[in-house]
Amino acid sequence: MTRRVRTRIAPSPTGFLHLGTARTALFSWAFARHHGGDFILRIEDTDVARSTQEAVDQIIAAMKWLRLDHDEGPYYQMQRLDRYKQVVDQMLAKGTAYHCYCTPEELEAMREAQRARGEKPRYDGRWRPEPGKALPPVPAGAKPVVRFRNPVDGDVTWNDMVKGPITISNRELDDLIICRPDGTPTYNFCVVVDDWDMQISHVIRGDDHVNNTPRQINILRALGAELPEYGHVPMILGPDGDKLSKRHGAVSVMQYEEGGYLPDAMVNYLARLGWSHGDDELFDREQLVAWFDGSHLARSPAQWDAAKLNWVNAHVIKHTPDAELAALVAAQFASRGASVAADALLEQRCALFKDRCATLVELADWLAMYVVDVSPREEDVAQHVTDAVRPALQALRDRLAAIDWDKGTIAGAIKETLAAHGLKMPQLAHALRVLVCGRVQTPSIDAVLALFPRETVLRRLQGV
Ligand code: GLU
Repeated sequence: MTRRVRTRIAPSPTGFLHLGTARTALFSWAFARHHGGDFILRIEDTDVARSTQEAVDQIIAAMKWLRLDHDEGPYYQMQRLDRYKQVVDQMLAKGTAYHCYCTPEELEAMREAQRARGEKPRYDGRWRPEPGKALPPVPAGAKPVVRFRNPVDGDVTWNDMVKGPITISNRELDDLIICRPDGTPTYNFCVVVDDWDMQISHVIRGDDHVNNTPRQINILRALGAELPEYGHVPMILGPDGDKLSKRHGAVSVMQYEEGGYLPDAMVNYLARLGWSHGDDELFDREQLVAWFDGSHLARSPAQWDAAKLNWVNAHVIKHTPDAELAALVAAQFASRGASVAADALLEQRCALFKDRCATLVELADWLAMYVVDVSPREEDVAQHVTDAVRPALQALRDRLAAIDWDKGTIAGAIKETLAAHGLKMPQLAHALRVLVCGRVQTPSIDAVLALFPRETVLRRLQGV
């Protein structure tokens, strides 16, 4: 590759960062990192009515959470209006753009007539200057739009990084409006000027933009700009095959943070939606960057699979160092209004439970037994804390009051109690779990008990 690789993500700040945009950002980021290039954040905020600062903040927070660090930006299109105007003026001067004074009513009448003739509605070039053509008289006081003078002959062809060669005939393309009567530039035009000025080498975006690409290429050519490569990634579908939307559940990246997902898991999972590296399902960022060379992008749409995301998240949780988990779980508790120190004890508790959790929320749910009082279900108490077990529980409580408080010694005390009362392990262990942990299933009970303060265990076994 001779040109420096520069990619961008260009979200419109009209809402939270959608999973689809996050995936496009991830692909663009990984591709830039793979090639040692630059990744640029550009905020496409020209839709003033729908853009908000809050959405900008949320998008930036989500990118930060995913650790998709950008090298430049955020650039804001609304801060570049002078530049767009300058390019419009240059194009007018050069004749690659022209003023059109058609009123909305005229355009509507034009379309009606075309439809009546069975033609596809399109701008008929009425104000397009041609050698020897007389243009209509300029209506007094009218404010024109500026249209791009699209080539009439030939095709636009590009070799899409995802879809392969795509050819669109110029006859299919209208003379696009690039500037409105009030002087504001239009979306496709701003994108072109930005990609040009920012020297974007590869545009990776959703395939809902495929139709814009031939228009953008034509404008770039008219400007004498070097063309970027384009890669149009298929949409993400919901489990029912429709485009992924709120209807299918959370589509905002930050909802996944709240749901107890780890950014590394999101990155791993999102990367596999529409891209593959052999049979690899689990990989870290470094591997992704090493592998992501722009090949193996899927042509067919990927389907959201919540169970697979949970599987990846469980894997990442399991491989996260306990100290990091402790900090994350402490934050989970903080959001529940409980203050828990991310200390060595919390680390040990995380270590004991982390291999049975799909999310940090689940991990915090497990560890809640250490943090707040438990309320065992009546039916569990009735089933497991029976008259046959009660004397053993009392005896064990007495033993636990007097031993060294560690897993091995606790295990010894349990064994002695079982032998003295002629009980089997599950009988005593289940009763202990119900009373101390508030649930019937836990990891090995001696390990679980050892991570409680002794007083808590004694209190929960009191008066059985
Ligand atoms: N602002 C566009 C969007 O949010 C992205 C345009 C592009 O990537 O060229 O869909």
